[in-house]
Amino acid sequence: MNSTISALELHRSFTSGKTVTRVLRGIDVDVCPGELTLIIGPSGSGKSTLLAILSGLLRPDRGTVRVLDTDLWTLSPPRLDAFRLAHMGFVFQGFNLFPSLTALEQLLVLLRYRGITGRAASARAERALEEVGLAHRKKLRPAELSGGEKQRVAIARALVKQPELLFADEPTSALDGHNGQIVIELLHRIAREHRTTVLGVTHDGRLLKHADRVINVEDGIIVSDERPS
Ligand code: ADP
Ligand code: MG
Repeated sequence: MNSTISALELHRSFTSGKTVTRVLRGIDVDVCPGELTLIIGPSGSGKSTLLAILSGLLRPDRGTVRVLDTDLWTLSPPRLDAFRLAHMGFVFQGFNLFPSLTALEQLLVLLRYRGITGRAASARAERALEEVGLAHRKKLRPAELSGGEKQRVAIARALVKQPELLFADEPTSALDGHNGQIVIELLHRIAREHRTTVLGVTHDGRLLKHADRVINVEDGIIVSDERPS
C-alpha cells in the first residue's frame, strides 16, 4: 500500500535566548491512506510540532516529508499554500469557528473562498453537515451549540472541500469523555467511508481503541507504533 505521508529523519529544535530545545530528534513515519492514525505522548513530547511539520505548517530543520508524492518542504511558499488548500483539512482543539456565523454559513464562507457559490455550495454544505449529524442545527451559531457540536461543525467545514488528508490537533481535549468519543468515532468513520487519511493528536487514552493505529512519541522520538485490535 502506498503511503499518503512518508517522512524521513525529521529533526526540529526551538531556540530561545541561549537555550536550544531539541523537540524532534529523528522521526521516520509513514501514514497509510484511509486510516485514522493517532499520535499520543506526554505533554511537550513534540506531537504538535510533528503534526505541524507533516501538514506543511512548520519547516523541519532536517528531513523530508512526502505527501501524496509531493516533497512538501521543497515547494515555494505559495505552492505549499496552494497544495495545503487543495489537499488538506484541519481541525483544532479550539474549533476556530466564526462567532457571528451559523453552522451552515461557516461552510459556505469556505466554499465561496474556493469559488463555489449558490445552489451547488448549499447542497455541498448541507451534505457535510448531515454527515456529522448536524443538519438540524444548521441555523445555529457557535454560542448556541455544545462543544461537541461545535467540533462536529469544524469537522464538516474541513470535509466540505473533500480533502485527501485531515489533520486534527487535540480535537477532543475541550470536550467531555462522551463527546470526545463521538468526535473520534466520527473521524474514524470519515477515514473509512471517504478513504480520507486522518492524522490526529490526542492525550486521551480512552480514545485509542477507536484508532486504526497509535503512534507514541516521547521526547521527540517514536517509542511505539501499534494497531489496537
Ligand atoms: P506536545 O504537542 O507534545 O505537547 P509540542 O510539539 O507542542 O508538544 O512542543 C514540544 C516542545 O517544543 C515544548 O517544550 C514546547 O515548549 C516547544 N515548542 C513548541 N513550539 C515552540 C515554538 N514555536 N517556540 C519555542 N518552543 C516551542
Ligand atoms: Mg500539542
